[in-house]
Amino acid sequence: MTWAVGNRYTRNMPDTIIIVGAGQAGLQVAESLRQEHFTGTIALIGAEPYAPYNRPPLSKKWLSEPMSVESLSIRGAEAIARRQIDLMPSNTVLAIDRSARSVRLQDGRQLPYDGLALTTGACLKVLPIPGAELRGVYGLRGIDDAQSIAAALEACADTHAPVVVIGGGFIGLEVAATARKRGLEVTVLEGLSRLMSRVVAPVVGETMARVHTAHGVRLVFDVKIVELEGHAGVVRAVRTSDGQRYPAGCVVVGVGVNPDDALARAAGLACERGVIVDACARTSDPHIVAAGDCCALRTADGSLRRLESVQNAVEQGKAAAAALLGRERPFTATPWFWSDQYDLKLQMVGLSHGYTQVVTRGDLNKPAFSAYYFRDTALIAVDSLSRIADHMNARKLLDRAIAVTPQQVADEHFELSSLLSPS
Ligand code: FAD
Repeated sequence: MTWAVGNRYTRNMPDTIIIVGAGQAGLQVAESLRQEHFTGTIALIGAEPYAPYNRPPLSKKWLSEPMSVESLSIRGAEAIARRQIDLMPSNTVLAIDRSARSVRLQDGRQLPYDGLALTTGACLKVLPIPGAELRGVYGLRGIDDAQSIAAALEACADTHAPVVVIGGGFIGLEVAATARKRGLEVTVLEGLSRLMSRVVAPVVGETMARVHTAHGVRLVFDVKIVELEGHAGVVRAVRTSDGQRYPAGCVVVGVGVNPDDALARAAGLACERGVIVDACARTSDPHIVAAGDCCALRTADGSLRRLESVQNAVEQGKAAAAALLGRERPFTATPWFWSDQYDLKLQMVGLSHGYTQVVTRGDLNKPAFSAYYFRDTALIAVDSLSRIADHMNARKLLDRAIAVTPQQVADEHFELSSLLSPS
């Protein structure tokens, strides 16, 4: 009898597990395998030359005051080795042979596996316009990108050149805040009519717009970028369809990512907006799991859900490790996410898609408030701006599906935490 993911009664457990992608999710799979008492070989193969590292600081603190690469590490190489995880940095997996159960590396080696985890993350979207390839145009996904952007911001500071950020989402706004804190002239060009419009309610987006404007960022909405104009191969300006020209010493493009499912697709795994997984991180191949930004979760109602967050990578990584050992530990926690801009912390929990009502609690002017999203009478998500206690309470309310009314939320004198304890 052969071993199979998800089969609790297998006699042959895997000897060798290969993890493709040494990022947040990949490391989590490896460490969770050890926590699940897996004693076989674990190879953690990563295309980047670094030990697995935290990406969130790259658009925040690390960008404004670059520290060592090691300071970003989730786990140092030594700690990884101590757990007997074979970290193989600077190695790209080029192909998966599912019938032979092996992967082919860039250096020509063919490594066999009993179980495979795909944790390949995501690739930056590139603007399909002339000039996108010019020097001085950056996306931000990894350490190398952040180092290039930090150097470009430095150069802009020296030459008093303006910075243009394309995209008013989390990463674009965090970069804008960082650049402004360094005293640079910053313009954010956003294609839609408000900031972070796909994920937050107007009241949150408009508040963040006021904050950025108050810090001196120029926000331009409803623009369509048509060209990045260069001179001698270096970007000099951004042109928009309404004929405007925005001079730029450098351009940071923050228009989102695509799941990196190329390997999985080529191997014939079911993919649609990412590698399709179930709540236990199992793919359409019983020997292969997937976790993190490369995935699309098939939910109970049949729809696909993509999340790009540390929590998702960690929790799905745990589920994937368990599944590799034939155990079922579905990832069911309520999703949460955060973003730091200036001294504001925006924390989000739940998925607000499909809300019918938003109720605020707190002071919109400070700003220090939370926006509670209801679908009919059910609370489905909460965004908190510098209201950490609200966020923590909201996580518990949503995780435990505790009923709360819009009236209770709107009344600052009503302690929402009182709903949490049975009294
Ligand atoms: P990654 O961490 O991207 O790791 C994937 C790895 O796989 C990469 O190293 C890649 O090189 C490697 N790889 C790909 N293909 C191959 C191959 N064929 N062979 C070998 N290796 C391969 N989330 C939050 O929750 N809060 C935040 O504030 C936040 N801020 C962020 C800021 C920035 C600048 C970025 C980029 C992301 C941020 N995120 C944030 C998102 C979060 O970091 C990601 O969701 C998380 O890193 C996803 O982990 P992952 O393991 O799926 O992918």
